[in-house]
Amino acid sequence: MIKAVRGTRDLLPPETAVWNFVDEKVREVFRAYNFQEIRTPIFEATELFARGVGEETDIVSKEMYTWEDRGRAESDRGLSLTLRPENTAGVVRAYIEHKLWDRGLNKLYYIGPQFRRERPQKGRYRQFYQIGAEMIGPATAGSESPARDAELLEMLATLLNRLGITGWTLELNSIGSPGDRAAFNEALRKALQPVVANMCGDCQRRAVTNPLRVLDCKVPEDQPIVEKLPRITQFLSEASRAHFDAVCEILTKIGVTFTLNDRLVRGLDYYTRTAFEFTHGTLGAQNAILGGGRYDGLSEALGGPAAPGIGFAIGEDRLVMSLQAEAASKAAALVPIVYIAPVGTGMNGEAAKLARELRQQERLVAAGPVELGDENFRLKKSFETADKLGARYILIVGENEAKSGSFSVKNLKSGQQISVARADLAQKILELP
Ligand code: AMP
Repeated sequence: MIKAVRGTRDLLPPETAVWNFVDEKVREVFRAYNFQEIRTPIFEATELFARGVGEETDIVSKEMYTWEDRGRAESDRGLSLTLRPENTAGVVRAYIEHKLWDRGLNKLYYIGPQFRRERPQKGRYRQFYQIGAEMIGPATAGSESPARDAELLEMLATLLNRLGITGWTLELNSIGSPGDRAAFNEALRKALQPVVANMCGDCQRRAVTNPLRVLDCKVPEDQPIVEKLPRITQFLSEASRAHFDAVCEILTKIGVTFTLNDRLVRGLDYYTRTAFEFTHGTLGAQNAILGGGRYDGLSEALGGPAAPGIGFAIGEDRLVMSLQAEAASKAAALVPIVYIAPVGTGMNGEAAKLARELRQQERLVAAGPVELGDENFRLKKSFETADKLGARYILIVGENEAKSGSFSVKNLKSGQQISVARADLAQKILELP
């Protein structure tokens, strides 16, 4: 038997209704904040991620699905391609490619699959889905303003609340400008030198390649060492400090609560200044529902003009997991409004015609789907099927009904049955108790 590849999974109904519920709600919120959708390809040139996300990150160094795209003709140049492990690099590439700076401040969002070869576990998949947004543009369009950071964070708080997710925590930090980070990295490297031999293998590697990432270590035995390392707060320049204070001030003013966490670093190299995560208690070890931050130098790293930006990515898989059962079942409760039962040989055509007519009635289908049966079913089986689907009404289509143009509609709960003229069907079904 052929199975889904390890780390990937099928999303089946009724759970897919919860995903659609999430998609619809977030689109509503994005619209209210004037964000518009962008769709970029799911694969890109490998170089985009090497330069955009960073060679030393876990993602690029060991988690990407990369292949050599051989040219079709001898003369075609082969190209290394990669399934996108995240979407910010793709959005910034599109920003540069289409000169989106002409539009001033871009407020863009995306929803789609991302791919990372991580060790699969609960809440961690190799194909997973992200809902993300980016605010990017020239500094003259206000892209660097702390007002934008605060707006984005407030939108996220609204979004989670609107979805019915309670009990989230916003963890906030500033990881400084590249200059601040360089000084901090240097201090970390120095502080790590005498102690790193006692740390886990990952930390020993990171101490050399990317000391900042040591702060992300989850190994319990390493924590006492991590606890004593220098803190980014000691290395923030005046300007970085003022920017971060302004973000915090606006959030406090509008009543979005947050926790300062000066150990919060993000797994991608491009982040600068504001960095954040929203965590949720029910998720266990993989407790971050979303993460994001500023990436003021990313456009330049990709060969574009200066274009400060800030963005986030929500893990939709984890969001769906942490949705309250109540909201989930409400979203999933989609049952047919009417089940059309052809009765007797040759009635499939007549029933299909009725189904076509009813399915074109927008008000009716807004109340629920129209389901169509089969003339090969006996009447008893039609009733059983309609019942199993939870249909509200059954509509009988037999030879006599077709001739007279008047059809029996029966409420499956109350047992009440009435006869309705063809032209009145949609209206009457909506009015019935
Ligand atoms: P990142 O792009 O690493 O900042 O991740 C942003 C969010 O995507 C995380 O907070 C998770 O919710 C989600 N995420 C990242 N990797 C995975 C994965 N392998 N499986 C499921 N969700 C993920």
